[in-house]
Amino acid sequence: MSDTVEKIKCLIVGSGPAGYTAAIYASRAELYPIMYTGMQMGGQLTTTTEVDNYPGYPNGTDGTAMMEDFKNQAERFGTEVRFGMVTAVEFSTEVGGIHKVTVDGSKQIEAETVIISTGATAKYLGMESEQRLIGGGVSACATCDGFFYKGQDVVVIGAGDTAAEEATYLSNICKTVTILVRKDYMRASKAMQARVNKTENISVIYNTELDEVLGESVVEGVRVINNQTKEKQVIDVTGVFIAIGHTPNTELFKDVLDMDEVGYLITKGKSTKTNLPGVFACGDVQDKEYRQAVTAAGTGCMAALDSERYLGALE
Ligand code: NDP
Repeated sequence: MSDTVEKIKCLIVGSGPAGYTAAIYASRAELYPIMYTGMQMGGQLTTTTEVDNYPGYPNGTDGTAMMEDFKNQAERFGTEVRFGMVTAVEFSTEVGGIHKVTVDGSKQIEAETVIISTGATAKYLGMESEQRLIGGGVSACATCDGFFYKGQDVVVIGAGDTAAEEATYLSNICKTVTILVRKDYMRASKAMQARVNKTENISVIYNTELDEVLGESVVEGVRVINNQTKEKQVIDVTGVFIAIGHTPNTELFKDVLDMDEVGYLITKGKSTKTNLPGVFACGDVQDKEYRQAVTAAGTGCMAALDSERYLGALE
């Protein structure tokens, strides 16, 4: 443990659109925020393709470039952005209490307010062959790994917007893309489905689930099962992209902050207040419904305003 404790007004944990927007507002309000980015600096958007639905970018933008813009804007107003992971928290339950946070297992921070914007992480199916072949052809991020499957055949598992988006992205790189959908319909938005349907090298197989990923050290195919007929078939692919949703990154706050049955943090009414005074949550970590960059940014702004008002009321 380090023996020097850094005392600050506002700590921001996580560096997606919510965290950076909170940082922009908190630094302009002279809360002198320090942000710890987590391992995936810039958050989930750095693994997405084109962002076409964020206002202010009429021609769309690249997710990584957009997050760099967010970071530069936060730093312009004085936010200190540091690469590091919060590894333990000891939050005060008292109004005006000090929240103790450990970073990377040793650094100690004492913050008057904490804004949590740790986001959510992609889910896997959990089967042995899938886990063993992560990095050997199994991935949960087409934009990170799609390049390696240029001209090859791949499958995408899932039926939501992520699956549709990943499949569309992969269709520009790969020879064929097969989407495995476990129900007899996709839950992706109409617009996303239309894109999938009009893309010649994407095919969708319904009522079908992954039974096993084949291959020892690299993917050589998948065995799939029709959950109606129980019929199994092997599809020759070299890449398997899992796109079945996300888990909120809240492990650290278990038994500390109120969360729902899935682990999303619960905020009060229309605010970003958690059950503890001076601790606020914004972005995907508290939103399982909208999960958009723009809604995350909106709640980031709210968290900074809630922090500012909380500190103002203490004076
Ligand atoms: P969702 O939770 O919407 O969808 C997950 C999908 O995975 C579902 O279709 C589900 O199937 C399927 N699934 C879950 N578990 C399994 C399993 N064990 N085997 C097979 N299939 C499984 O997650 P998304 O990540 O797609 O989207 C999350 C949110 O983000 C949504 O609100 C979405 O609109 C949004 N989003 C928006 C984008 C955009 O606007 N550009 C891009 C990506 C996401 P089932 O339907 O059978 O339950």
